[in-house]
Amino acid sequence: MSLAAIIGNARIKATLTGYLRNERVPTSLIFSGSDPLHQLQFAMNFAKALCCRQENRLDACDRCHNCLAIDRGLYPDVQVLAPDGQFYRKAQLDELIASAHHRPLQGDRRVFILREAQRLNESSANAFLKTLEEPLASNLFILLTQNLNLILPTICSRCQILKFMPLSNHEVKLELERRGVDPEKARLMAFFNTENMEELAEDDWKEMEDKRRSMLCILERLMRQSEVEDILLDLYDRSRVRDKFIAYFREMVNLISVLLRDIMVLMIDPAAGGILVNPDFKEKLMELAALTRIENIFFLIRKMEYLLRDIQRNLNARVLILEFINSYSRQEGAAHG
Ligand SMILES: [Zn+2]
Repeated sequence: MSLAAIIGNARIKATLTGYLRNERVPTSLIFSGSDPLHQLQFAMNFAKALCCRQENRLDACDRCHNCLAIDRGLYPDVQVLAPDGQFYRKAQLDELIASAHHRPLQGDRRVFILREAQRLNESSANAFLKTLEEPLASNLFILLTQNLNLILPTICSRCQILKFMPLSNHEVKLELERRGVDPEKARLMAFFNTENMEELAEDDWKEMEDKRRSMLCILERLMRQSEVEDILLDLYDRSRVRDKFIAYFREMVNLISVLLRDIMVLMIDPAAGGILVNPDFKEKLMELAALTRIENIFFLIRKMEYLLRDIQRNLNARVLILEFINSYSRQEGAAHG
C-alpha cells in the first residue's frame, strides 16, 4: 500500500507529503492518538516513501525492490521495534543506538519505528535521548503512542508531534472492507467497535455475533420480565471483578440501546429493514415491538444513555445493576397499568 491508500487522517497525510515535497523531513517524530495499527500503517508507508527508488517520489510506488522489501520486513534500513516485556530493555536501545550511528546500509535513509513509545522508561531511555539530541540527518525516528501524556517529557521535547484523529465508524468500515471483510460484516463490526482496530479481525466476528445474540436474549427476557433474577445474579457475579464488569456492562448497555433503537425504527415503519443496525434480527425485534409502546422504548433508550454516563463515572456497580433491571420492570408495569 501507499500513503495515499491509507484510510483516514488526511491532514497527517498532507503534513507528511509536505515534508517529502520540501525535502525537510524531521529527524524525530511522535505519532500520538488513534489506534496503534493505523499509526503503524502511516509510519511504514512514510518509511517506504522515503526509501522508494522511484525518482521525484512524494509517496511509495509500492512496486520497487525497496518498497517490497520494507513490506516484508526485509529492508535493513527500516526497523520496527516493540518493547521486550513491560518496558524497552536497555540492551534493545543500546543495539538501536549502535545502528543509528552508522550510515544507512542500502539507501540514504534509515528509519526506526518504535511501537508503544510510552514504554520507554527513564533508566533505559537516557542514552537514547542523546541520540535524539544529536541526530544524524540520515536517521528518522518515529515513536508511536496512543497516549502522549505517558511519554517522557524529555523525549517529547525533542520530537515533532503529529496528533492523529480516531477513525470514524465509516472509515473503520472502509478499512475493514479493504482488508477483505464482507461489507455487511464490516458495517456491523465498525458500528460496535471503533476504539481499537487491532481488535477488529475476521476472527472476532464470531465472538461479536455471540454477544449480539446473547444481548437480544437478555433484552427479550427483560421486556417479557421472565428469568430476570438470572440476569441479576449473573451481573452481581461479574461485578466482583470491577474492571471487567465495567467493560462488560458498558458493552451490554451499548448493544441493548442499539437493539432498542431498531425496535423503535420498526414501530415507526415496519418495512424499514434496510436502515436497521441489526437487520438479521428483524423478526424477533418485530415481536418485541409488539410487547410495548413507543413512549416506553423512548424512555428506555434515554435510561440506557444515563446508565452509560454513570458507568463512565464509575458509580457503584450494584446500584447500576438494579437501575438497569428496574427500568425494565417499571416499563412493564407502566405498559400494563
Ligand atoms: Zn518504491
